[in-house]
Amino acid sequence: MKRFALLGEPLGHSLSPALHKAIYRQLEIDDASYRTVELPEERLKSFFTGFKVGGFDGINVTIPHKASVISLLDEVDSKANLIKAVNCINRVGNKLTGYNTDLLGFAYSLRQSGVSIEGNEFAIVGAGGSAQAVGAVLAEGSAKRVSIVNRTPERAELLQQTILTLNDQVSVDIVDEQQLIERSKQIDCVINTTSVGMSPDTQSLPISEQVFGSNMLAFDLIYNPLQTAFLKAAESKGANTVNGLQMLVAQAVYSVEIWMGGNIVAHVDMNALVRDLEKLIK
Ligand code: NDP
Repeated sequence: MKRFALLGEPLGHSLSPALHKAIYRQLEIDDASYRTVELPEERLKSFFTGFKVGGFDGINVTIPHKASVISLLDEVDSKANLIKAVNCINRVGNKLTGYNTDLLGFAYSLRQSGVSIEGNEFAIVGAGGSAQAVGAVLAEGSAKRVSIVNRTPERAELLQQTILTLNDQVSVDIVDEQQLIERSKQIDCVINTTSVGMSPDTQSLPISEQVFGSNMLAFDLIYNPLQTAFLKAAESKGANTVNGLQMLVAQAVYSVEIWMGGNIVAHVDMNALVRDLEKLIK
């Protein structure tokens, strides 16, 4: 029996156990389990001592532990290390290796939307952990320009550095809301990476609706609610919209691929998994 878990705190209504079970069902894997492990920061070290010698075969990590687990690992994938966020850990024998599959999940979902990265202009609203993953994908895909808007300027600067470290050909500007509105006609895709608008605070907008236009994709990393105020406002201006559910599904499938090997991403019906989860959120 292979044993997997999600580590974080709090995990009350996490969709991950249902999602992973649906993936195992689709792949006809009947010897794997997935559960949640809710732990505060001060108990991480002792948990990892046990993890290293057995117990679980792989772990997903979520808020607030994505950065703090890094020092407890034997090896960390270079991009996960750069963005200081690990959300997937694989154990082989006594060796623990950390990865970031949020990054792969975002890249997958953006590809499915039909917006190509190379030569296009993007805006990232927010500059936290998930914005770092988004920024890394845009840098690697050779975006032409990335505009960052964030409440805390220091975090926007860290995100700017990450993008430039990966690709110094990208033009990266830290802007305020008014400046973003002024350049909105050039922007191909605006991505909300803040938690503003997440259930239960569903009426809040992370950015003015004046940013949206009809030739744009609005991508919200939030998946609960399925249609945030951000996506509603974008739709009312004629923009195409994508929520965070497909990204959530894809990051989970990439985790399963890391743990079990093989070309799992190509063999999974992501859309069926998205439909399964939609029923749980509605
Ligand atoms: P972080 O805590 O690392 O970052 C949160 C960001 O939101 C920061 O930029 C923060 O700004 C901003 N923010 C929070 N509250 C406010 C507010 N009231 N006004 C303005 N800005 C605010 O979180 P994550 O990056 O890990 O997650 C962000 C969102 O992305 C969550 O909703 C999460 O569920 C979602 N997510 C979805 C994934 C998916 O697979 N679909 C994967 C990962 C995350 P500041 O820097 O000023 O504090």
